[in-house]
Amino acid sequence: MIIEPKIIGRVCLTAHPLGMKKALEEQIEYVREAGKFVMPGRVLVLGGSAGYGLGTRISAAFGGDAGTINISLEREPTGKKPASPGWYSSKYFDEAARKEGLIAESLNADAFTHETRLAVIEKIRELFGQVDLVVYSLASPVRKDPDSGETYKSVLKPLGKTYTAKSVDFVRGRVDEVSIEAATAEEEAGTVKVMGGEDWTLWISGLLEADVLAKGAKSIAYSYIGPELTYAIYRAGTIGSAKENLERSASALDSMIKSIGGEAFVSVNKALVTRASSVIPVVPLYISLLYKIMKEKGIHENCVEQMYRMLRTKVYGPSGTLRDENGLVHMDDWEMRRDVQDLIGARWDKIDDDNLKSLADIGGFREDFMRLHGFNWPGVDYSADVNPMG
Ligand code: NAD
Repeated sequence: MIIEPKIIGRVCLTAHPLGMKKALEEQIEYVREAGKFVMPGRVLVLGGSAGYGLGTRISAAFGGDAGTINISLEREPTGKKPASPGWYSSKYFDEAARKEGLIAESLNADAFTHETRLAVIEKIRELFGQVDLVVYSLASPVRKDPDSGETYKSVLKPLGKTYTAKSVDFVRGRVDEVSIEAATAEEEAGTVKVMGGEDWTLWISGLLEADVLAKGAKSIAYSYIGPELTYAIYRAGTIGSAKENLERSASALDSMIKSIGGEAFVSVNKALVTRASSVIPVVPLYISLLYKIMKEKGIHENCVEQMYRMLRTKVYGPSGTLRDENGLVHMDDWEMRRDVQDLIGARWDKIDDDNLKSLADIGGFREDFMRLHGFNWPGVDYSADVNPMG
């Protein structure tokens, strides 16, 4: 079949297998060129099919020679419909890693269930005995509580009052304004249930109890803080409440995992185009401004570049894990530099339809968005028939 991008709002419903293969190969190539580093060899990634989780998995495998198990939830292909992007990434990752002689297994399953956790524990016992690193990189709009059976939704809304701000329609390349009503208390609580630390805690306590965490094992979950410019919708919004909850869980988990000499912590990552971040209002305009400035200054990184630097220098570097006084690892160090943020602030007030292309990297945003669905890759003939099964 011919597979074309089908974009509705800020969501692309299709993915191109050949482009997804290119995307994976490019990330592996980056890690190969960046070079090997030493880290323990058995890794579990929750949410390893896309974005930050995939970047971590590729860095651990091709940089640190680690065997990896990935749990992600992706739409499978049918003869008539392509899969979601992460389904192809996991398939091609497992093939490429195995070719390299590495253990690589992907489970397409809902990580929020007890059944999945039990299946993963069995898989760890079968393949590794124990794991040395657990990466928690899930981003989901819904979660069914595994005990009560109740389904919770995560929303991206401000708290307290309606928030009106500039935004961008990145598909059409136009600056517009969005107004988002404040979340209800129930919506805030739902977002914390989905994106907070409850599920991460269930995972770590379950793995500890089953004795599948190796001595000295580490666990990392990902968060975002960002500048004041995006506070109302991010850090001081519903998702921010969830992230604060995740960060508080890290302290509790850190104490719990000390029993085996391990540690649990949160890494605050940079704002980047992923399927999860494209749907957050206001954030695409911020990311477009950020990309432009970080590229101009030669300090732009994508997911795999961030996660390679994190593992090599901030988690398994010569001084061990580099955490701040709040226990956080900072991969947002370059994003939050004063010179970068001052420029974003100055440009934010001026940005309009006419100067969007010169002040912001809207083309770069759109290109990343297309490419993470396998489109716009040079060397792929998009007019040719392709097997959606990959
Ligand atoms: P993403 O959309 O690229 O990836 C999300 C992953 O979660 C995918 O592998 C998906 O399959 C998996 N997933 C979702 N629901 C699942 C379920 N029920 N069971 C199993 N797997 C499931 O997202 P991302 O942007 O890489 O986000 C990952 C983490 O990084 C999140 O915690 C996010 O808040 C954080 N983060 C993102 C950014 C950013 O700008 N993108 C910045 C800082 C931190």
